[in-house]
Amino acid sequence: TLKKIDLENESKDELYEMATTFNNMSDLLKETMDKKQQFVSDASHELKTPLTVIESNANMLKRWGSKDPKVLEESIDAILSESKRMREMTGQMLALAQDHTALTTNYCKIDLASMCEEVCLTMGKTYNRKINVTIKNPNTFIIGEEKKLEQVLRILIDNAIKYSSSEIFVIVGTKINKAYVSVEDQGIGIPKDKLDKVFDRFYRVDSVRSRETGGTGLGLAIADTIVKSHSGTMEVQSEVGMGTVFTVSLPYIKDD
Ligand code: ADP
Repeated sequence: TLKKIDLENESKDELYEMATTFNNMSDLLKETMDKKQQFVSDASHELKTPLTVIESNANMLKRWGSKDPKVLEESIDAILSESKRMREMTGQMLALAQDHTALTTNYCKIDLASMCEEVCLTMGKTYNRKINVTIKNPNTFIIGEEKKLEQVLRILIDNAIKYSSSEIFVIVGTKINKAYVSVEDQGIGIPKDKLDKVFDRFYRVDSVRSRETGGTGLGLAIADTIVKSHSGTMEVQSEVGMGTVFTVSLPYIKDD
């Protein structure tokens, strides 16, 4: 445990200043350690569920697998789908852990409009969904890590695909000194009191429904971490039964 320096006999000398700095550092360190601990405990908890399903199905297979073809088929399917889920989750956890120590060596100038058009085209084709892209300002340049920002966009579009069934609208533009991308769907929406929780790790508004759609509750946490590491912000507006808009804002550089 970290011990604080006693500041009862405050004096305005150098030692006092050093002590204050040290105390601030120890608070920060404790906060970081608490967050890490919380993440490890949340992660273990989340991994337990698929592991339990795998274990119980393996036991079923051991007992009945050779006698009952239905058990054989169902148990193997359950094991395969839960393993897939675990693989996805561990991959995402790794992505989150890496973002804590993000290196900024891969930063470059990015044409946000072209990047969005490309990602939307690929995802629209892959998932056979109509994604309507509007470019309000074709000169939307930002500085950042391209792969990471593509990932943010893919997470938002992936959610729009999962939680809606009609057309998706992506808008790219600039506002004062910010570049923005908004991803809008006309899907199930998010209740007002849950809006600020959706960026929390492992949070799912409706865990049963999210499980069916293969959600892990990590996507938006990853997106938020990446956006913050680019000095950007993420906003969400939603109406239950009407749809949701996620807007990412990033510092914008004027093209020269
Ligand atoms: P998940 O893997 O569960 O989609 P996310 O972190 O990406 O995890 O999202 C967290 C939760 O926020 C989701 O489980 C879902 O309940 C809600 N959510 C995210 N995007 C949308 C959306 N476009 N429409 C409705 N709900 C959404």
